[in-house]
Amino acid sequence: MQFIDLNAQQQRIHGDIVKNINRVLEHGQYIMGPEIDALEKALGEYAGVKHAVSCSSGTDALLMALMAYQVGPGDAVFTTPFTFVATGEVISLLGATPVFVDIEPDTFNMDPARLEKAIAALESKDPRMHPLPQGYEGLKARGVIPVDLFGQPADYDRINAIADAEALFVLEDAAQSFGGEYKGRKACALGDVAATSFFPAKPLGCYGDGGMVFTDDDRLYDYLTSVRIHGKGTDKYDNVRIGINGRCDTLQAAILLAKFSIFPGEMELRQEVAGRYGKLLDVPGITVPAVREGSLSAWAQYSLLSDRRDAILEGLKKAGVPTAVYYPKPLHLQGAYKYLGYRPGDFVVSELAAKKIFSLPMHPYLTEEDQCHIADVIKGIL
Ligand SMILES: *Cc1c(COP(=O)(O)O)cnc(C)c1O
Repeated sequence: MQFIDLNAQQQRIHGDIVKNINRVLEHGQYIMGPEIDALEKALGEYAGVKHAVSCSSGTDALLMALMAYQVGPGDAVFTTPFTFVATGEVISLLGATPVFVDIEPDTFNMDPARLEKAIAALESKDPRMHPLPQGYEGLKARGVIPVDLFGQPADYDRINAIADAEALFVLEDAAQSFGGEYKGRKACALGDVAATSFFPAKPLGCYGDGGMVFTDDDRLYDYLTSVRIHGKGTDKYDNVRIGINGRCDTLQAAILLAKFSIFPGEMELRQEVAGRYGKLLDVPGITVPAVREGSLSAWAQYSLLSDRRDAILEGLKKAGVPTAVYYPKPLHLQGAYKYLGYRPGDFVVSELAAKKIFSLPMHPYLTEEDQCHIADVIKGIL
């Protein structure tokens, strides 16, 4: 059994993938070839966003979005500590400071009520209201990065309202949620700008690294396309700002175009798989993931909570079922973030989730038979 079965997917579209790769080998435009435009157009339309800018990874997508807002030293960016390290890392790379905000216990996404508190605490320079990082006295609130964890969008109606009132930008970390929905809108269309990832294990993955930035904002779009190619102006030897080499390879775009043709159908299959898990694992001792009314998860991961996680993981391993723990250590307790001066107990919801959470195999091709087997093993342990 595979945790994510990329092989089953490849078998369905192998011919198209080879055809698309061969077309690139024929035209030879390995950098910014015609497949890049085609992919940006297709995914921008799917997400319902005016501009889509492909790039080298989900991390660079986040970084480029922050660079487009000219985030730098002295800036505070609010995000959650219960995420992949890249979300916080890009803030720090630019010399800005992450201000962590705890999550909702059921969706694992940023808790809007706590965001409001964190903003107020920073404004009134009062860390008794909400834990603040070292050096908070000199910080100015600039933006918010909500994370659509495991594929479910955060609560954007509330988060956008809070951010708007304080003139903060909202950068949606949609690395896990491409294909997800929130109140009739698609993930990647839910903030001022969004970043997604095409890492192979994500809902829409390529065969290497890749990512995309989405925005309706024309000015931001101009910045993003410039930052992506070394801060280019009229051409790449006219450099008007500091940028990066953030391009997506034409070959990866060609592979993604083949994969995208079956992606909407795969999203439906993921809903069926998640629905089956929900029924099979509705047992005492297990908390199955909660999806808010009006939301659709892209099911990047199927993550459960249990007090008996470690016994369950061991039992599943013995039964040959692969599992994973996302994430065993929240960012505020990571060595890399020691300099922020946060302490255990600062974000208790994240800390508790880190102790109880585990993820089961999840992909569109998971069979009912395998799911029944997994559920039987878990019930046997409990
Ligand atoms: C995967 C991921 C990223 C980074 O994407 P890469 O393509 O691996 O750089 C950022 N944020 C979250 C929440 C992720 O899951």
